[in-house]
Amino acid sequence: MAQSGKQDEFESPDFYNIDDLLTEEHKLIRSSIRDFVKQEISPNIEEWSQKAHFPKEIVPKFGEIGIFGPFVPIKYGGGGLDYTAYGIIMQEVERGDSGMRSTASVQGSLVMYPIYKFGSEEQKMKYLPKLASGEMLGCFGLTEPDYGSNPGGMVTNFKDMGDHYLLNGAKMWISNAPHADVAVIWAKNEEGRVHGLIVERSMEGFSTPETHNKWSLRASTTGELVFDNVRVPKENLLPEKSGLGAPLMCLDSARYGIAWGALGAAMDCYDAARRYSLERIQFDKPIGSFQLIQKKLAEMLTEITKAQLVVWRLGKLMDEGKATTAQISLAKRNNVEIALNIAREARQIHGAMGITGEYPMMRHMANLESVLTYEGTHDIHLLVLGHEITGISAFK
Ligand SMILES: Cc1cc2nc3c(=O)[nH]c(=O)nc-3n(C[C@H](O)[C@H](O)[C@H](O)COP(=O)(O)OP(=O)(O)OC[C@H]3O[C@@H](n4cnc5c(N)ncnc54)[C@H](O)[C@@H]3O)c2cc1C
Repeated sequence: MAQSGKQDEFESPDFYNIDDLLTEEHKLIRSSIRDFVKQEISPNIEEWSQKAHFPKEIVPKFGEIGIFGPFVPIKYGGGGLDYTAYGIIMQEVERGDSGMRSTASVQGSLVMYPIYKFGSEEQKMKYLPKLASGEMLGCFGLTEPDYGSNPGGMVTNFKDMGDHYLLNGAKMWISNAPHADVAVIWAKNEEGRVHGLIVERSMEGFSTPETHNKWSLRASTTGELVFDNVRVPKENLLPEKSGLGAPLMCLDSARYGIAWGALGAAMDCYDAARRYSLERIQFDKPIGSFQLIQKKLAEMLTEITKAQLVVWRLGKLMDEGKATTAQISLAKRNNVEIALNIAREARQIHGAMGITGEYPMMRHMANLESVLTYEGTHDIHLLVLGHEITGISAFK
């Protein structure tokens, strides 16, 4: 439970002994990230969120403990770990806060991953170690003001000017943008083909206005990316893959992390509700002795246990290179939905106290509304599954 002035005594539920399926290394990683979250995030997150403050000083700390791009090989500064380890890290960070996890997901899956998978050796050596250590913060620009669920319609474009590319257009709703040193952005060339480009903050004509007044992910910073005749060196084009499939591959990796992350938020809410139900006395009894409270807790634990099994299995499929986009859609969609439902039920168990920053549910709930929408909306993932089942696309 992550609230101001109180000790974070979080304990994770493990009703089906899923720990038996993890390696010792996985458990060690989990415990070190959990301790980090208890020390660095839990004591501060309410204040950061209430004040809509992005704590930039946490970025190198994330780097030091290995939160950024753990699946990237050690040679490039990553952790050389498997996808289950990556998932566990995302679970623990989002147990602290979805905004903190968003910063980590973007850096790892949406900035380091495309450079690692589609970049040249020079690009990898130049950017990956600095991104892994948190010396640099990155962002990922796909969404545009008029193209969200349909990114293929994007109008951001670049022209070949001989010795450089000339980039024009705008991206919107970009996590980390206002503080990013580097942006991996997706734009069309003169033939209309989508390519990835690495844009650096210092490039003339590039600006990142911040998006204010969010009720969600308040400790994470969001903004626009504006490209006004930006001269991008030719060596900044990601050479190894083009087409919309390239950013979609990055999103698969990120959505996989979200499926674990949302589970972390759900576990935090469940744990808070379980504790509160034993402490809070009404009618001379702990409220946990009433059947309706027990029903809520039992249903939360059931959904958490099912979600744990889904992500554990998906992690294995990711490591074997067999996970499909539709499998990832199912996990992201399910786990975010159950987390949001659990946050709401846990809030009810806390009565009026549940609406305050003394407890984490309202913050998780508001955060999860963004998580439900970004990286493919809840409905679009449902339609991805519908397509998988029937072979018929209902969304285009
Ligand atoms: C806090 C936050 C951070 C974000 N970070 C990033 C980032 O770092 N990088 C990035 O590129 N983007 C980012 N996004 C953008 C996010 O991915 C988009 O918001 C998302 O893809 C949805 O696009 P949209 O908001 O334009 O909604 P729209 O696409 O306009 O959708 C509106 C509604 O219509 C529905 N809809 C759309 N098309 C169909 C259809 N064919 N059939 C049925 N229903 C449909 C949707 O499900 C939704 O309910 C972020 C968003 C938020 C809120």
